[in-house]
This record gives sequence, structure tokens and C-alpha cells, in this order.
Amino acid sequence: MPNRVPIALLIDDSCPLVHVYRYHWEDVHKKAPMTKDGRPLLDVVPNEFLDRFCDVVQRHGMAGKFSIVPAPAGLGDVVHGIAGFAPELTRAWLTTAQTRLSDRFDFCPEGLTHNLAVDLQTGAFLPQGELEWSNLQDRTTLTPYLTRELELLKAVDIDATGFTSCWTFGQKVEAEYLVAMVTAQQAVYQRAFSWYFLHIWHRFPASRPYIAYAQAGKTLVSINSTVDDFFWATIDSPRTDQAYIESITDQLLTADGQAGAIRDVLNAGGWPILMNHWQSFFSNGLETGLAVLDLLGHRVSTTLADEVAWTSCSEIAQWAVLEQ
Ligand SMILES: [Zn+2]
Repeated sequence: MPNRVPIALLIDDSCPLVHVYRYHWEDVHKKAPMTKDGRPLLDVVPNEFLDRFCDVVQRHGMAGKFSIVPAPAGLGDVVHGIAGFAPELTRAWLTTAQTRLSDRFDFCPEGLTHNLAVDLQTGAFLPQGELEWSNLQDRTTLTPYLTRELELLKAVDIDATGFTSCWTFGQKVEAEYLVAMVTAQQAVYQRAFSWYFLHIWHRFPASRPYIAYAQAGKTLVSINSTVDDFFWATIDSPRTDQAYIESITDQLLTADGQAGAIRDVLNAGGWPILMNHWQSFFSNGLETGLAVLDLLGHRVSTTLADEVAWTSCSEIAQWAVLEQ
């Protein structure tokens, strides 16, 4: 165990082109998706946004995990491309993720669609969302579903080392979900050691990742988040000024490193594992959240260099095992 505490970004909802949050919003509110201040939510996250995201995380040596929703909102998939766009755009996005992120970030699926559940036999969408569907299943149905998630990523040469649960996918049937994840990793990647993100434990700053499953030579580590997504507010604000960017960053870590949610976790003896969303950095096209991430990276480097080390989820899982 290194003498510095692991810190990580858990980036949810990332995928080629599709602004998946816009589709969640529409499903919940049943009307044209809007920000809280009345701007239409954009349909598309352009590939150039991924380039700028990679610039920021590389500049500061950030690490963690990066979800890739395999069939985002049911509008195509990573293998065949996204409806309405040349398949080359999806391939280019995946190539950028692979070449620029794979050394410091783990990849994982996050549902198949992060929207409606899919009938694996027919490819048709079920009337239930994946969250609702998942919590009524057991290992016999979850295993093929998770296997399909991994197979789609493997088909485009992505090594998915773990799973992210869209919303609280599987939480009500977690004992079955654990077995399904372990079985799917073994089936697709012949992997006996993996991790997953399900638990949002922001009220428990002292918490650390832990072994959730260890049977018959298979180990699965639960990586729970301990720091909330303060970037999210940028989706609903037109502000992009420096004072606003600093005010959001302060909630995570102040300029002197002495306050904010990350400091609270360190003081409590936990590991700062930051829940984030692709849409929170995109900020409906304004990219204010990405500017916050850039400032946060600078603050971590300048004030916490002796205390924390940016760490990928695979590395965190290994450290969690050594700690037990
Ligand atoms: Zn999600």
C-alpha cells in the first residue's frame, strides 16, 4: 500500500456522440428536454469534446474509470455506429478513448442502452428501463445481459475490466448481480479479478472500496463513490465566468486544499472516489464542468501532492484487497 491515498474519477454515461442524459430527461418529464434555465438540452456530444477532456485529464495525470455505454439510448451501438452519423465517427471516438485514456483509466460498460432494457433474443426494447428491469431479475437473466454488454465492447477491442451500474442497476438483487458480473467477466475476458461501481456513499466519507465477492478463486471489489458530482450544477447554469468555476471547484477542494468534499473524505480516513458524469463536464455544450475539472486537477497537484495519488479502478481494486 503506497503512503499516498488513492483518488479517482468515476466517469459515468460517456459514450460516442449520444448525450444520454437528454434521453433520460425526456423519459422522466415526457416533454422536450430543457435545462433548468430553459435552454434545450443538446442531442449530441461532439467528438472534439472527448479530445478536450483527454487534454485535461492528461495535463493533471488524472485516473479512474471511464464508462462506455455500448448501445447508448438504443440509437445504435459501438460496433455499427450511431444512427444518423457515419460509423467512422464512432470508431474515431473509440480510438481516441483507447489511445489517450487506457493507460490511466479502466473502461467498463454501463448498461446496454442506459435507457430501455433490451430483449436479447429479438433486439426489441422492453417497456421497462434498465434500472427497473434489473431489480426484478436474478443471475439467470442478468448474466447474459451483462455478457452482451461486455461482448459489444470486446468486439471493438475495448478491455472492460469492470462494471458500472446505470443508476442503481441491480441494487435490490445485489447478491445475484455479483454472481452475474463475475460470471460474465469470466465468460468474455477469462478474468477472475474485477470491480464494479454501484454504491453512492457520499454521506459516509470514511468508507473505502471493499471485497464484495470472493468465491472459487473469483474476486469482485466494490468501488463506492465518496464525493458527490458537484460538476452537475453546470448543466443548468448559463454562467461560465471564473468566479462561478471557482465556486463549484471550492465545493470539491478549496484553493488552499483545506476544505471541500475531498478534504472531508481525507480527514475522515476514506479514499476520495469522485462520482462524475459525462454530461456534467459537457455542461450542455458550455463545457463549464470541464473547466472545473481542469482547475480541480491543478488544485490537487498543488495542494495534495503529498497526500493523494490519481489511481485507476483496477489499481484501487488491488489496493483494496491488500488492505483487507
Ligand atoms: Zn449513468
